[in-house]
Amino acid sequence: MREEGKLAIGVDLGGTYIKGGVVNLQGQILRRESAQTLSREGPKRILAQIANLVEGLRRGDEVAGLGVGCPGLVEPTSGIVRDPPNLFGWREVNVKEELERKLALRVEVANDVNAAALGELHFGAGRGVKDFICITLGTGVGGGLVLAGKLFTGSKGGAGEIGHLPVNIFGPHCRCGNYGCLERYVGAEYIIERARNGLKANPDSLLSPLDKEGRLTPKLIAEVALRGDKLAQEIFRETGEIIGAALSGVVNLLNPELVIVGGGVAQAGKLILEPIRRTLAERAMNKEIQKVEVIPALLGEDAGLIGAAALILKP
Ligand SMILES: [Zn+2]
Repeated sequence: MREEGKLAIGVDLGGTYIKGGVVNLQGQILRRESAQTLSREGPKRILAQIANLVEGLRRGDEVAGLGVGCPGLVEPTSGIVRDPPNLFGWREVNVKEELERKLALRVEVANDVNAAALGELHFGAGRGVKDFICITLGTGVGGGLVLAGKLFTGSKGGAGEIGHLPVNIFGPHCRCGNYGCLERYVGAEYIIERARNGLKANPDSLLSPLDKEGRLTPKLIAEVALRGDKLAQEIFRETGEIIGAALSGVVNLLNPELVIVGGGVAQAGKLILEPIRRTLAERAMNKEIQKVEVIPALLGEDAGLIGAAALILKP
């Protein structure tokens, strides 16, 4: 195979959708397919779904391999995936081995947010940057670390769980079993919860009708904030400050050049980025460290898919 014509398939396995695509060395998706995840039917069915998707995408093209981004704890060398949230009956599955057997193709597996960080490293906002942190803001709050130009996954693949940094040791219970984790304050549902609580003292907010219709989402709260609503603005300011404070700890620990912010909630742009930047500048330990740049992710929803393909394309 000519090196410049090298292709790989990337698959982003989520609790709702499985998205797959054929990706070239420039990080472009040449064609794509997706399927609704049969998340309740266990690993056997889902692995069969992935294999079907890959066969459909392959169409006789010579591909160098398949990269899969999975939620949960992923051991990179063995390809074992443990306890992915929102996928039932998994516990421990060797995704690499199972798919290699089914497809007769080289398979590499990574945690989904780590895959997204890898995508940003090779084809997105982290190009040419040696040390950066990726944080994804959505229902869950994920993280990926690129250190010395490489994805850092830790001894068992568990590194980068920024969402589960405890920001308040006396805080509420988190789904991970710990208390007061960052995700428990800034995950999408908790942003909505903060809006609901804020409405009690601010019934005239433009968020009020949305709440009554049960339509509050971070996206709509951002829209209302841009129309000048004080409560909605306050919610993003506070959310950004909490994220910035947590990131100042990570920045003190790792001294990265860059923080890349992705995920659905990051679509709020300046509303969330400005308080993150301000708080980081106030709280990181010394002046040099405070210079860390905070920028939005470039690859959007495709980061996981492209990054999964990068596991093969950019070993
Ligand atoms: Zn947690």
